[in-house]
Amino acid sequence: MTAARSGAPPRVGSSHAAPVTASPLPTQARSWDVIVIGSGIGGLVTASQLAAKGAKVLVLERYLIPGGSGGSFKREGYTFDVGASMIFGFGTKGHTNLLTRALADVGEHCTTIPDPAQLEYHLPGGLTVAVDRDYEGFIAALTARFPHEAKGIRAFYDTCWQVFDCLDAMPLLSLEDPAYLAKVFFKAPLACLGLARWLPVNVGSVARTHIQDPDLLRFIDMECFCWSVMPADRTPMINAGMVFSDRHAGGINYPQGGVGVIAEKLVAGLERHGGAIRYKARVVKVLLEQGRAVGVRLAGGEELRARRVVSNATRWDTFGDPDGAAQRPGSVSQSAHSGGQRHGSANPSADGDGHQGPDGAREIPDGGGQQRTGEGIPSQTLIDGADTPAAERTWRRRYKPSPSFLSLHLGVRADLIPAGTHVHHLLLERWEEIEAEQGTVFVSMPSLLDPSLAPEGHHIVHTFTPSSMEAWQGLSPSAYAAKKEADANRLIGRLEAILPGLAGAITHREVGTPRSHRRFLGRSGGSYGPIPAMRLPGLLPMPFNRTGINGLYCVGDSCFPGQGLNAVAFSGFACAHRIGADLGLNPWRLPD
Ligand SMILES: Cc1cc2nc3c(=O)[nH]c(=O)nc-3n(C[C@H](O)[C@H](O)[C@H](O)COP(=O)(O)OP(=O)(O)OC[C@H]3O[C@@H](n4cnc5c(N)ncnc54)[C@H](O)[C@@H]3O)c2cc1C
Repeated sequence: MTAARSGAPPRVGSSHAAPVTASPLPTQARSWDVIVIGSGIGGLVTASQLAAKGAKVLVLERYLIPGGSGGSFKREGYTFDVGASMIFGFGTKGHTNLLTRALADVGEHCTTIPDPAQLEYHLPGGLTVAVDRDYEGFIAALTARFPHEAKGIRAFYDTCWQVFDCLDAMPLLSLEDPAYLAKVFFKAPLACLGLARWLPVNVGSVARTHIQDPDLLRFIDMECFCWSVMPADRTPMINAGMVFSDRHAGGINYPQGGVGVIAEKLVAGLERHGGAIRYKARVVKVLLEQGRAVGVRLAGGEELRARRVVSNATRWDTFGDPDGAAQRPGSVSQSAHSGGQRHGSANPSADGDGHQGPDGAREIPDGGGQQRTGEGIPSQTLIDGADTPAAERTWRRRYKPSPSFLSLHLGVRADLIPAGTHVHHLLLERWEEIEAEQGTVFVSMPSLLDPSLAPEGHHIVHTFTPSSMEAWQGLSPSAYAAKKEADANRLIGRLEAILPGLAGAITHREVGTPRSHRRFLGRSGGSYGPIPAMRLPGLLPMPFNRTGINGLYCVGDSCFPGQGLNAVAFSGFACAHRIGADLGLNPWRLPD
């Protein structure tokens, strides 16, 4: 148990979602209802929802910009997306449009540009399929490639719609709140029963019920891998129902000005409702008293107290290994007081490891000189292993971190890209390499939708491919630089299949490795998120927001329902609702 300052935080007075006035006090001097560690979209939705309910909320972000994997950074006239760029959840109807709703709830709105297609697949054997925004257009295109499976294609994707219709029929809040469950069952009983049915199911078994063609089943694997980084047998049906249908319902919509605008607007909404955010504020410990979370300690030693603490860091960064050689309770490593905020370039493509970033800024190694325990293992967790609840042991057995990415942020001459080219692409040359190191390649060219993202006469080509930390460990600085160069060139060479002439059209280039992702996103191993370590029953085992520690909640992609901006927004709504119930802040009525 860690020592903490005394002093009771003020109570929240109202149980209505009335905005509170911004306090002029500096963030150091206040006590908070809720502290959120991290400004990923999951953290920001939690924070802004709670602020809108009347709670006093502080977000602490270790980096320079909000958004985490859903942020953007600027370089030489380009606005690059850090990670996410194919954005779901910006629809105007139903309940699954969670980004639209999260922004509106704090008086914000993003102007979005509709993408006419989700993406174009370039798969082995010349299988090229574009997923049209129009459902019937997509079904017709896929059926043209597999005419003998016409019935199966329709049946499979129609089944996904059934799942989506259940989700879309109900306000999506905390499944951990019995009062919500009772109200939502009363409001939409059939949808609730439908969802309960699909919760333990994975996509593979549903696909095989309707489809026999092995290439079409591999295509469905790829459809899943595109966002779950797992084939159909390990992808939960609930997520597939959401993704395979929302791309046609609400559609894929790009926020004008870059994906980072979503986080910036959530921060604006948070601040307008009396909340605050501090950047370069790395939390090194959650403070515990009698087993209850009561605040946090920052890297400089400052302690802040709150009635509730939320971690938007991954579970591997939040909890120590209960079975590992963890720090003893109460111990504070040297690094906890050694500073450790990073400065300089705000992108995961910059070379970490204390090397010079592309803008000339020198990066301070993560942890400000703390001992590294290996690139893939968090050197310090927010909760010591000895304080980590037993449930986390089960979670670690069931889920493992997915690989990270090798990513390239490129500026190219505009004449490289013919008119009518789709924004998003996925490339795989050999089916057996779908899950391989640097196997599947993702491409995003958002400046085709929003030309303001690139200087005149240029476009953005953002590409990434799964790559694990192990492939980048133990290299000397020169070997690391050489591998970056060689792997980036090989990736560009492969992309020539989609963008002939690419190598000769590049005018700006930044390369990010798993080490960069770990360093800049603060994610253990630079991982994209949790994936099943064994065969699991759909989404059933995914944890919700409460943890085994009183007063401590988790939010983001290590929680139900997993990765993706709209998914972590769901997690944020649920987390804010659960905390709202615990603090007596929730309005009686469910949202319309
Ligand atoms: C390359 C790539 C491409 C992707 N493409 C898409 C896509 O097209 N569409 C889509 O929907 N999703 C996509 N995703 C997934 C999506 O971006 C993530 O699932 C989502 O953004 C995760 O949000 P989060 O809230 O869980 O946390 P994160 O984005 O990980 O944010 C966590 C935040 O917490 C901060 N933090 C961590 N530890 C601390 C600490 N100790 N103290 C203070 N702050 C801390 C971090 O700096 C970070 O800002 C992509 C991801 C990647 C990496």
